[in-house]
Amino acid sequence: MSDVVAESVLEINLSHLAHNFKYLKSKVGQGVKMLCVVKANSYGSEDVAIAKKLQEIGADYLAVAYVSEGVHLREAGITLPILVLHPQPVNFEALIRYNLEPSLYSARILREFVEVAERSNKKDYPVHIKFNTGINRIGFWEADVDFIHRDLSKTTSVKVVSIFSHLAASEDHNEREFTLQQIHTFKKITEDLIPKLGYRPILHQCNTSGILNYSEAHFDMVRSGIGIYGYGNEEGFDAKLKPVAALKSVISQIHKLEPGESVGYNRAFKAQDYMTSATIPLGHADGITRIYGNQKGFVYINGHRANIIGNVCMDMIMVDITGIDCNEGDEVIIFDHKHSATHIAENAGTISYELITGISPRVKRKIID
Ligand SMILES: *Cc1c(COP(=O)(O)O)cnc(C)c1O
Repeated sequence: MSDVVAESVLEINLSHLAHNFKYLKSKVGQGVKMLCVVKANSYGSEDVAIAKKLQEIGADYLAVAYVSEGVHLREAGITLPILVLHPQPVNFEALIRYNLEPSLYSARILREFVEVAERSNKKDYPVHIKFNTGINRIGFWEADVDFIHRDLSKTTSVKVVSIFSHLAASEDHNEREFTLQQIHTFKKITEDLIPKLGYRPILHQCNTSGILNYSEAHFDMVRSGIGIYGYGNEEGFDAKLKPVAALKSVISQIHKLEPGESVGYNRAFKAQDYMTSATIPLGHADGITRIYGNQKGFVYINGHRANIIGNVCMDMIMVDITGIDCNEGDEVIIFDHKHSATHIAENAGTISYELITGISPRVKRKIID
């Protein structure tokens, strides 16, 4: 039982995190390492609390997108190895100072990193080589293997700890053939590069849906983000997982509306009949963006669904509570382990990832262990 919510709160349930970690780990072989993705404030939750828990329950690696995110974790005392997926050269010195490990994804990035590593007198500094096998955002191409080998053999400042790639559509069963092609390409690349390096780095390609749908691509490590936070990108997997974050709020005020009266900015909602609305202290500055306005989004009050009416304001939303037995001060649930963020996100035309990562720092975090 959680206490009564008296303001907007994002509850972070660490036992749910442990449950999800265990479930995903059970899906991969004994010797396969678990990298947990904690970028974007641990998918909009609380990066330090999540990383500490993951460290305690046996995660092998963490990953963030940017150097600043890794610095934040190091300053909070996180000691697990941290892969930085998308670093920029301007931050390479800080990256080394904080013992973070870069993804090297292009000739420019590799050369700039080696230069900084040499200048810092590093030996065998751990780096990760990222290949593009079809998503076409960052990564070396298959044809770059010789170049990478040549450049790396000229220096002892860095050592390749892993070779990895990213799947573009692992959650999409209609793209199975494309995904299998990506896996095939990754295998070919590693079979080409490993003999040239003369040692075998950790190989990894799967994100959460890759773990769940492509056991043939688990290799030596898998990278889970959304899964450890409790979402499996399809109903069958969602049922096995427990959402870590629950967004709760409270009814600030109740209004009785007469036919023809409007609600909110630009009078975007007009009452057709006598009705009742409730105002809730959450708005687009909290991460409930305007796409949820005008009946696209909804909340739950005393077990009943109440649609958001009119435009989302910066600090509030108004919902239709006609016929719902409720009072000012009552609890409002936007999403939790029973009311999935996936439903509200998909109803508004987006995905759970965007809704949960967008909950802004203004919403108080409450850690439940
Ligand atoms: C964000 C990210 C992940 C995590 O993906 P999920 O679908 O959330 O599991 C894995 N790998 C890379 C390279 C990423 O950028």
